[in-house]
Amino acid sequence: MKDNAWTAYSDQDLEMMEMLMKGYKAFLTTSKTERECAANIIELAKRSGYISLEEAAADKKGLKPGDKVYASHMGKMVILAHVGERPLTEGVNIIGSHMDSPRLDVKQKPLYEESGLAYLDTHYYGGIKKYQWTTVPMALHGVIIKKDGACVPVNIGEAEDDPVFCVSDLLVHLAGAQTGKKATEFIEGEKLDVLIGSRPLSGEKKDRVKANILKLLKEKYDVEEDDFISAEIEVVPAGKARDFGLDKSMILSYGQDDRVCVYTSLMAMLSTKQPRRTAVALFVDKEETGSLGATGMQSRFFENTMAELMDARGQYSELALRRMLAASSMLSADVCAVYDPLYADVFEKRNIAYFGQGVAFNKYTGSRGKSGTNDANAEYVAKLRKIMDENHVAFQTAELGKVDAGGGGTIAYILALYGMDVMDCGVPVMSMHAPWEICSKSDIYETEKAYEAFYKDC
Ligand code: MN
Ligand code: MN
Repeated sequence: MKDNAWTAYSDQDLEMMEMLMKGYKAFLTTSKTERECAANIIELAKRSGYISLEEAAADKKGLKPGDKVYASHMGKMVILAHVGERPLTEGVNIIGSHMDSPRLDVKQKPLYEESGLAYLDTHYYGGIKKYQWTTVPMALHGVIIKKDGACVPVNIGEAEDDPVFCVSDLLVHLAGAQTGKKATEFIEGEKLDVLIGSRPLSGEKKDRVKANILKLLKEKYDVEEDDFISAEIEVVPAGKARDFGLDKSMILSYGQDDRVCVYTSLMAMLSTKQPRRTAVALFVDKEETGSLGATGMQSRFFENTMAELMDARGQYSELALRRMLAASSMLSADVCAVYDPLYADVFEKRNIAYFGQGVAFNKYTGSRGKSGTNDANAEYVAKLRKIMDENHVAFQTAELGKVDAGGGGTIAYILALYGMDVMDCGVPVMSMHAPWEICSKSDIYETEKAYEAFYKDC
């Protein structure tokens, strides 16, 4: 193992790291859904001089090197581009991360009363160990879209005097039968319903607690029960991202998969000076459910936006677009597993990421015999190694865990369809997909440096 990255830090490094962490914690705390995340990205980009691609394209002068543009789709997918000196057909440098995280989604007909208690019925999103999502304080984030198109934002459970919510769990005294079951079975998906009220509305005969909840929703948001049909409300862990450990060397937060790569790639993008090749930052939705849908990586939004970008640069043709995509380089910016000594038996010690060893490169992911994975070309891996060394970035290489212990995937294989070079590269995470995940500050710091180096030198 290489020396721990912490041992090499100067006072200036530590100061810059803490500055990055301050921004990161604030970003995590206010970006708990893909919509919130996208809005915050666009806001920060605008402050750095980015303008909308549509606006830039309407101005017939065309894009020139140094111009900075953004495009977004349905409020859940964002692309930033910083126009480089080289022609687009020579390829662009792309870093792509995902803004969605595991959570409980409120169903379309969610509200019910049972034995004097009101609940919101949910459908979990992404891969979770269901028992972890009970008895922790939760907040409601999202939107309700009314029939007239009006958008009602919802955010309850984050302010100091806001109420919070949770999924209950059976008291241990009566859990003999429950705790004898397998962990995948003892909390069923349909039991992940969120308790939201217990006080009846006087005067009503039936479902009086539910009636009171509806009255409160009407007063606060002017919405009816039917408006849940066109709502997207996510039940997410309530509370702030915070320093973790007595030495404050780590961060504890909801949603670090993959907002840690979202934030580090965004910061790298915004601090990029005039790039040689055009720099592109891609922030997508739906990775945790297979990258499908209009805002997932498999949608054509990325390709269409690249065509618009070429057109605004005066370099578009169908063939030029295909040449550009094939000649591009990509970092699929996603988290990977970190070695956890408490669960040593699922990791292979020489090929796993460790806290304090820097940004982690995963040449391939997949399961069993590398099934379903992109596999970065060795020539590309060599090029990236060289860039990391030349820019003094601490990096490590890793696999998810032991061969045949499990598996996973990222958006890497989707970009690789164009024939471009793609490598997975991100921050190691402990307790991945749990309500509260842990990352090392030094790995976050090195990852931001790695992404900056990639935009500058690839
Ligand atoms: Mn991920
Ligand atoms: Mn994930």
